[in-house]
Amino acid sequence: MTVFDPNLRQIFVDNQYRESSSSGEHCVLNPADLTFVGRIAMCEEQEVENVILRAKIAQNEWKKVDEKSRSIILHGLANSIENGDFEEVAKLMVLEMGKPYPEAVGELANCAPIFRYYAEMARDEGGILPGTTQAGSFQFARYFPYGVTAHIMPFNFPIIIMCWTVAASLAAGNTCVVKPAESTSLCTLKFMERFKSLPSGLVNCITGGAEAGRVLVESPNTHAVAFTGSVETGRKIAMGCAERMKPAVIEAGGSDPMIITEHAPLDIAVPGCTMSAFHLSGQVCVSSERFFVHEAVHDEFIEGFTKMAKALKIGPGLEESEIGPLVSEAARDKVIRLVDDALSKGARVACGGRIPAQYNTGWFYEPTILTGVNSEMAVMQEEAFGPIASVCKVKSLDEALELANNTKFGLGASLFTNRMDEAMQAYETLEAGMVWVNNPLIDNDAIPFGGWKMSGIGREMGRQGLDAFRQSKMGVIDASPTIQDWWYPYPQDWFYNGKGREY
Ligand code: NAD
Repeated sequence: MTVFDPNLRQIFVDNQYRESSSSGEHCVLNPADLTFVGRIAMCEEQEVENVILRAKIAQNEWKKVDEKSRSIILHGLANSIENGDFEEVAKLMVLEMGKPYPEAVGELANCAPIFRYYAEMARDEGGILPGTTQAGSFQFARYFPYGVTAHIMPFNFPIIIMCWTVAASLAAGNTCVVKPAESTSLCTLKFMERFKSLPSGLVNCITGGAEAGRVLVESPNTHAVAFTGSVETGRKIAMGCAERMKPAVIEAGGSDPMIITEHAPLDIAVPGCTMSAFHLSGQVCVSSERFFVHEAVHDEFIEGFTKMAKALKIGPGLEESEIGPLVSEAARDKVIRLVDDALSKGARVACGGRIPAQYNTGWFYEPTILTGVNSEMAVMQEEAFGPIASVCKVKSLDEALELANNTKFGLGASLFTNRMDEAMQAYETLEAGMVWVNNPLIDNDAIPFGGWKMSGIGREMGRQGLDAFRQSKMGVIDASPTIQDWWYPYPQDWFYNGKGREY
């Protein structure tokens, strides 16, 4: 069976689609209207282990391929992604998780470059060659792959986040088993067609939920884990990996601050904040959630922000929509709980705060701005992961920075200002893995991406993203063997009762 079918409970292994041998299944429903999209298998332990073994067999060959040849193959994959037809993958993504179509296409259009980047980086630098500590001794380190890497993925950017770690892992000489989120398994499976341009078995995909993920983490035949998802799941996976001394990159959630200083360019800050708060209905890991706005510009900012938020087009992702539904009922219930809690403690609704009347079948929620928010409210302590911007009025940049850092999270942080001194102070002070000044949400294949504090361990992208999937081996090679002056027998005067060894 080499053709993808969203109804057949398939997995992707050895470059082929196969019907899953596991009995459990999950029906995928469109979060915009709750219609049926397809079905996925809930892969059981034995099936997951079998796929891991196929990846292990493929790795035995892939690890022997020289870096230049690997690079040529990865560039071929990038070509295949660039020349592929995105439409069906993008449509499935929209139908499965609700993303507006332009955002699904935008995600896919950005996947190829990371394969080119790591293809070149891995062959540019295969180890370390420092100065030697002994003349004539060749002392160096080379990088080696771990083996089979597991990639446990979130629903919000299912393809591009997978590509970030799969590209690094393949370039380093590993093979991969991917487990997408239940709500984005069909588009991920469809995208697997692109990997058919690789030697068989390099990238495989199983489906399922927490149990399938657990098997990937605990299997003795996976050797490193790339996880992106919530803090709660990330902790479980980090603990599972720690118990087995298995390296893990944990990209977890956040509750990013956005600071609007008294010197912010409001004409740019308002549209920038509308995007960073409500893009993908607030389901971006680095969505701005907690807003700290200087009192001198607070009211003007809120007026513009509210006007823009109210103008956003809500609707199903295949229509002319800018704001799709949330991914699930549970996700919307959380948003409702956080808004209710904030209102009960004195916050006010500037706009939104309700289910849109015309879209009350799926999991839609209006872009919502809350003002008068304080740190006692749950919305300031938890990741909302929904279309809520919670605004606190502050008296100074120092106060904003202190409140911004008053959280267990440390993923991203943003600021709008026209002043260089404020930009520098914020970059220095904010406890986060990424700081954006006047340009939120941007990433760069060549810059490490990841969180401080509870938002993660390790980095994706950049050189650190490649190093996460390779281990060094020190080498000391002396071509002309000699007896070293520190070997046995020790001279008499080295002992305690002699005059002692001189250094
Ligand atoms: P999630 O934690 O619910 O699930 C993520 C993945 O983990 C899914 O594939 C899921 O099936 C799997 N999983 C769940 N329980 C597991 C277990 N016990 N063992 C192994 N695997 C398990 O996250 P989600 O709802 O899909 O994604 C949203 C979260 O991801 C948000 O918190 C968001 O901030 C975060 N995120 C972070 C980044 C980043 O780069 N830091 C990027 C995107 C998303």
